[in-house]
Amino acid sequence: MAQLFKHYINGRWETGVTIGVSENPSDLADVVGEFARADANQTEQALRAAADARGAWADSTPQRRFEVLDAIGSELIARKEELGKLLAREEGKTLPEAIAEATRAGMIFKFFAGEALRLRGDRLPSVRPGVDVEVTREPVGVVALIAPWNFPLAIPAWKIAPALAWGNSVVFKPAELVPACAFALAEIIARSGLPAGVFNLVMGSGRMVGQTLVDSPLVDAISFTGSVPVGEGILAAASARRAKVQLEMGGKNPLIVLADADMDQAVECAVQGAYFSTGQRCTASSRLIVEAPVHQAFVDRLRERVRKLKVDHALKRGTEIGPVVDARQLETVRGYIDIGRSEGAELLCGGELIERETRGHYLAPALFLAQPQHRIAREEIFGPVACVLRADDAEHALALANDTPFGLCAGVCTRSLKQASHFKRQLQAGMVMVNLPTAGVDPHVPFGGRKGSSYGPREQGAYAAEFYTTVKTAYTLA
Ligand code: NAP
Ligand code: MG
Repeated sequence: MAQLFKHYINGRWETGVTIGVSENPSDLADVVGEFARADANQTEQALRAAADARGAWADSTPQRRFEVLDAIGSELIARKEELGKLLAREEGKTLPEAIAEATRAGMIFKFFAGEALRLRGDRLPSVRPGVDVEVTREPVGVVALIAPWNFPLAIPAWKIAPALAWGNSVVFKPAELVPACAFALAEIIARSGLPAGVFNLVMGSGRMVGQTLVDSPLVDAISFTGSVPVGEGILAAASARRAKVQLEMGGKNPLIVLADADMDQAVECAVQGAYFSTGQRCTASSRLIVEAPVHQAFVDRLRERVRKLKVDHALKRGTEIGPVVDARQLETVRGYIDIGRSEGAELLCGGELIERETRGHYLAPALFLAQPQHRIAREEIFGPVACVLRADDAEHALALANDTPFGLCAGVCTRSLKQASHFKRQLQAGMVMVNLPTAGVDPHVPFGGRKGSSYGPREQGAYAAEFYTTVKTAYTLA
């Protein structure tokens, strides 16, 4: 019998109103498990539990919060192989990538364990005699955390850890495609010594569970990572009732290859950034903008490299690219490949379905030569598809890179310190990489974008306090 992944509400494991099934995208015959799905009522139970638990956790000592978060981080790291295996099986990224993600989730909890102890305030003299002023940070209250499927351990970790570190209570809604990962994380959190109700896991659809969280007057703040249309709806609903909101949405991240770049390094950055994790990363390099003198050489080498990428079962040793996450995403990605062709972009390799020993959503990584106006060069695809754009010179490359409604991450490959500095200043993105893939970030520094990619304060690092705390200014006449 399949394992049932349950909700965690008010310190208890609860069955759902309906049941969903999680399957392995590398092997559709392999059921990862069944999971509880909530309706609005059950979601509201979790919200009430979180609201009732606010005081107990908000008033706990920083040392206690440190211990809870540090214990969660230690267990994630100790069990990284097992959790990585579960993640690779459920989401389809390769086992080494999945183990690295489990490790990273642990590092994030440990970082925020330290942050709980480091929360600072200011004390300063008033402009009035005899009066002192204190500026302190307090928890926001009940936070709703809505996560996508593509980093099923790391993204929840970078929302849950700061929320708990700074004394908030949490209702976490994972994506429906990855309930086993959410359950595994919740199971570790449930054993960490938190008071009942401080952390709640509620699974189910975005339309039902997600929307109930977004619309609830019990929710003080919403942190969302996912697609642009869902993010826009959340922003409208949250601002109508003045809830705090933070959105991390899509990207169409450029990687610029200048004529003086180290070609081996540039090709590796492109392959890593565009195709690893099956291109299902918001920071994926989906636009490769190459300066004219090296355009042909770069394209030739990249095509050879992409053709040789090993696409197979995520758990198989030697696999470089796993399957697409599900049938719907596969349809979307194939739809874009058709659009690319019909708009006149040149498909250099890949794009076809491939068969492996097990039946799964396998797609050969696709590389296009495109024009800037093509939809495949403008819209986020979120799959193993990249396009090369040709730039006349460095300034043209910069203009092409910034010609997008998104602004999450941007990369440049160059040997010139002068160009590196210029691009770091001029790229309109929240994160810039020099001689590194656009995807692959550190867990202790801010993550987020500009323009249509993000809204609200940054996630991760000490900067996360802007979202997960609220400032109080107190005046005392002694
Ligand atoms: P999505 O469809 O927007 O879903 C994200 C989360 O929102 C899921 O948990 C989803 O639930 C939920 N949701 C859906 N409709 C909702 C609603 N009306 N109200 C509240 N919640 C709702 O995105 P996805 O398909 O999971 O992930 C792919 C997208 O996420 C891509 O566009 C990618 O760029 C973006 N992404 C961005 C970042 C970043 O940091 N910038 C990171 C990763 C992914 P369901 O389970 O029902 O879908
Ligand atoms: Mg979705």
